Amino acid sequence: MTELTKTLELKLVEPTAHKRRKLRETREAYQQALHDAFDADCATQTEANDIVVEHDLSGYAKNALKQYVPQLTTTYNADELHDDHPVRFTNEGLRLDHKPENAIEWYVKIPHHEDYHLWMPAQPNPKQRDWLEALNAGDARMGESRLFERDGGWYLHVTATRDVEDGSEVSAEEQMPIGVDIGEASLVTVCHRDDHGSPTAPKLWADEGKTIRRLRKTYFTAKRRLQTRGSERIAESFGDDVWRQIDDVFHHVTREVVEYAESVENPVLVLEDLTHIRESMDYGEYMNRRLHGWGFAKIHAQIRYKAVEKGIPVETVNPRNTSKECHACGEVGYRPKQATFTCPNKACWVSEYQADVNGAINIADRYLSGESHSREHTDGDDSAEDGGRLTAPQDTQADATQQETLGTYAS
Ligand SMILES: [Zn+2]
Repeated sequence: MTELTKTLELKLVEPTAHKRRKLRETREAYQQALHDAFDADCATQTEANDIVVEHDLSGYAKNALKQYVPQLTTTYNADELHDDHPVRFTNEGLRLDHKPENAIEWYVKIPHHEDYHLWMPAQPNPKQRDWLEALNAGDARMGESRLFERDGGWYLHVTATRDVEDGSEVSAEEQMPIGVDIGEASLVTVCHRDDHGSPTAPKLWADEGKTIRRLRKTYFTAKRRLQTRGSERIAESFGDDVWRQIDDVFHHVTREVVEYAESVENPVLVLEDLTHIRESMDYGEYMNRRLHGWGFAKIHAQIRYKAVEKGIPVETVNPRNTSKECHACGEVGYRPKQATFTCPNKACWVSEYQADVNGAINIADRYLSGESHSREHTDGDDSAEDGGRLTAPQDTQADATQQETLGTYAS
């Protein structure tokens, strides 16, 4: 077991003039207390307490000062303090909330005065999404946080800690990649190949997909109705409740995905690279998957942190065409139905295949072929796709039929 610690970066989103004033008040009161305690040469928590207790600050900032000032006076060699010390709060001070239904999804509670605090929308570093999910689920612990202003913007740095299992170190060849596909019919689908290279043990979370679709529908219908009645507050609390239920389903599924990986020897979970998902999907497909709230980012982040907890590595691959290519021959096929993939290649043994499983195997294979995150811009990939498009069989056939019909009429 190893303890991982990270500083999470959040930028407060366009605080109103009122909130900026409150933040500045906090900072000024904090600086004053810090200077007073430093100038009084407080070397113990008790001495620092006697000074900071007089200031109009939240208990979280006062407690942080009590710990911080004795450190400063015993290690800091300057006679005077700079003015750029961030405002520190002890671990219980900050609270995090997640509202995935909102354009700005994350909110932080910042202590102000004794009994007064500010809730503010915050934009996290997108690379740290897994940590936020872990914090939000209570699977990581929040430590001290620091509030500061830089170039006119306000930022929060939050220390977070979680326990992870040490992974076994095996070479890439010994690893068994497990493809993870997130989709419409099945919320998540995983599959890997056995020692002989045959796809094995596909697992689909189709019922959960149904549940999410139902919850989403309930949410949008009820929200519209409540909003037309002007009940914004009820709409919001109802939305929070539905999203909590959705999040519960996500947690249950992502836990089972990691359990699946634990049942495989030397597993590596392979996800699609989210930073390139927009570019690699056509617009309609992207909007479908994004707008329909399938929570790509949320599910990925939960899988990531839960896998790391168990010492299971997670890798990403280029998502281009993973749902369109045949896992057996690589030909670009089509979906006559949502759940069915059809391979147009006559020489290929695959004619119809479960579409989500086909996608999951493609994702696993990309890792095997070395087409992982760091090497995603290979030329072969692009040319294969262009070629596939040009010779798309359904179009060719349609053209041919039309030609014949015209010919008949012409003669
Ligand atoms: Zn095929």
